[in-house]
Amino acid sequence: MDIEQFRKAGYQAIDRICDYYYALQESKFTVLPDVEPGYLRPLLPPTAPEAGEDFTQIAEDYQKFIVPGYTHWQHPSFLAYYPAGFSFEGILGDLYASSVSNPGFNWLASPACTELESIVLDWASQMLGLSSSFLNSSGVGGGCFQNTASEAALVAIIAARSAYKASYPDTKLEDMRIYTTTQTHSLGLKAGVILGLSVRALEVTKEDNFSLRGHVLRSALEEDKKKGLHPFILIATIGTTSSGAIDNIAEIRSVAKDFPEVKIHVDAAWAGMALVCPEFREMCHLEDINSIADSFSTNFHKWGLTNFDACPLWVRDRKYLTDALDITPPFLRTAQGDAGTVIDYRNWHLGLGRRYRSLKLWFVLRGYGVEGFQKHIRKAVGLNETFVKLLSSSDMLSLCAPPSLALSVFRIDPRPSVSNQTTLPEDALNDLNKLFYGKISARKDIILTQTVLNGQFCIRLAIGSAFTQEAHIRRAFDIINHEAKLTLEAWEQ
Ligand code: PLP
Repeated sequence: MDIEQFRKAGYQAIDRICDYYYALQESKFTVLPDVEPGYLRPLLPPTAPEAGEDFTQIAEDYQKFIVPGYTHWQHPSFLAYYPAGFSFEGILGDLYASSVSNPGFNWLASPACTELESIVLDWASQMLGLSSSFLNSSGVGGGCFQNTASEAALVAIIAARSAYKASYPDTKLEDMRIYTTTQTHSLGLKAGVILGLSVRALEVTKEDNFSLRGHVLRSALEEDKKKGLHPFILIATIGTTSSGAIDNIAEIRSVAKDFPEVKIHVDAAWAGMALVCPEFREMCHLEDINSIADSFSTNFHKWGLTNFDACPLWVRDRKYLTDALDITPPFLRTAQGDAGTVIDYRNWHLGLGRRYRSLKLWFVLRGYGVEGFQKHIRKAVGLNETFVKLLSSSDMLSLCAPPSLALSVFRIDPRPSVSNQTTLPEDALNDLNKLFYGKISARKDIILTQTVLNGQFCIRLAIGSAFTQEAHIRRAFDIINHEAKLTLEAWEQ
C-alpha cells in the first residue's frame, strides 16, 4: 500500500467506523454475535497468501468475516464484566500513535513519548486526587503505563520483593508471602504463580460487605510471622470484581504502621475512576490511600473513557521500581540516561518496548476535561440507582450485596408468596439462579456476567458504556424480570 492508497483506505475506514457507531447507538445489531465456536477457520484460507492482496478486498473480508464475530463492548446493552473504555478521541490517539510506530523505551527512543507520558500521568493523578508524592514532577515518585492492572500488581509485587530482600537479604523466597483477600482479582494468585511465591487470601465476610478489615489483616500477619513467614506485600482492592467491595484502607492504615516492612499496593482497576468525583473520595478511602499506599493503579481503559489499553501504575518512590527492574546492557545506554536527567520508562515495567499510550490519554483528558469525566461517572452511578430502584420493586429479585457505584449484584430470591414455599434452601436457590442465568446468557440482546458471593450464585450488572441511557437500563430490567418470571414458572412445574 502506498501513501495515496492509505489515504483512500483510511477515509473508508473512518466512514465505516462512523456507520458502525450510528448503528450501535440505535441498537441495530445485538450485543452478542450470532456465531458458534470455530466459526472463523472455515471462512479463511489455511495459510497466508503468497502474493500481497489488494486492500479493497481485505477491507471487504474484514466486514464480512471479522465484524460478525465481535462481542460489542460499546453496545448500550453491554452490562457484563466491567466496561471497556471508549471515546472517539481515544481512537484518534491510537491512530496517531500507531502512525509513528514507536516503542519509546528510553527518553532518547522518543523524547515526546516519555515526556508526554510523564506529564499526562501527572494530569491524571491530580484529576483523581492522588497525593503529590505520586507525581512525576516530584522527581521522586511517579506514574507510568503498564499493560494491564494484573501486570501493574505483578510489577508492584516484584518491586516489593526486591525492597524486602534488600533489607532482609537472608530471607528465603519460599518464606515470603503476598496477602490478598478471597475477593481479590485473579491477579494476586497469578502473580504468586509467576513469581513462585505463596499467596494468602484473607477471608472477608458478607457482614463486612466483602471488605478487608484491619483486625483480619493484623491477625494473619501476626500468625504468619510467628510461623517464621515473611509478609512483604498486601494487595488491597478498591472496587472488587465480584461485588465492587472496597477494602477498609482506614483500618489497614492503622495496622500498616505496625508492619512497615509490608508494602501496600492498591488495585483500583475499575472503581479508581470514581475518584474523579469529590463525592466518592471518602467512600474510596482516598485520604488513607494517599497516606499509606506504596503503589496505586487504575484502568482508564475500564471506566475512564480511554480505549484499551491504558493502565497507569503510580509509585511513591520510583527507585522502588528501578531498583528491581533496571537492567542496562551497553546497547541501551544513553548519555541522558547515564546522567540521570531523564526517565527511561523501560526500567519501570516488564518489557523493553512499550506502547505509546500517553497520546490517547492526552487527547481524552483534553477532549472531556475533568468535568466530562465527572459527568460520565455520575451518569453511570445514576443509572445504577435507577436499576436498583426497579429491582427493589420486584418481589422475585434481590441484591446480594450493597450496590457499589455503577455495579449491582442480584439473584432471584422469591418472597414466599411468589415461590409457593416458605423459603427456598440455599442449594435450591443456587440451582434456580443458575437456571435463571442460563436463560439470560442464552440471549444475544443483553450481556451480564455471573459470580459467586459467599457461596451464593449471583448475577452482576455493571454500567459504563458511553452509549447506555436510562431507556436501556429500563429495558434490561424488563428482560431480567421477564426471564425471572419464566425461570420461576419452569422451576415450579
Ligand atoms: N482488578 C480488578 C478489581 C478488576 O475488576 C479487573 C478486571 O475486571 C482487574 C483487576 C484485571 O484488569 P486487567 O485486565 O487490566 O488486568
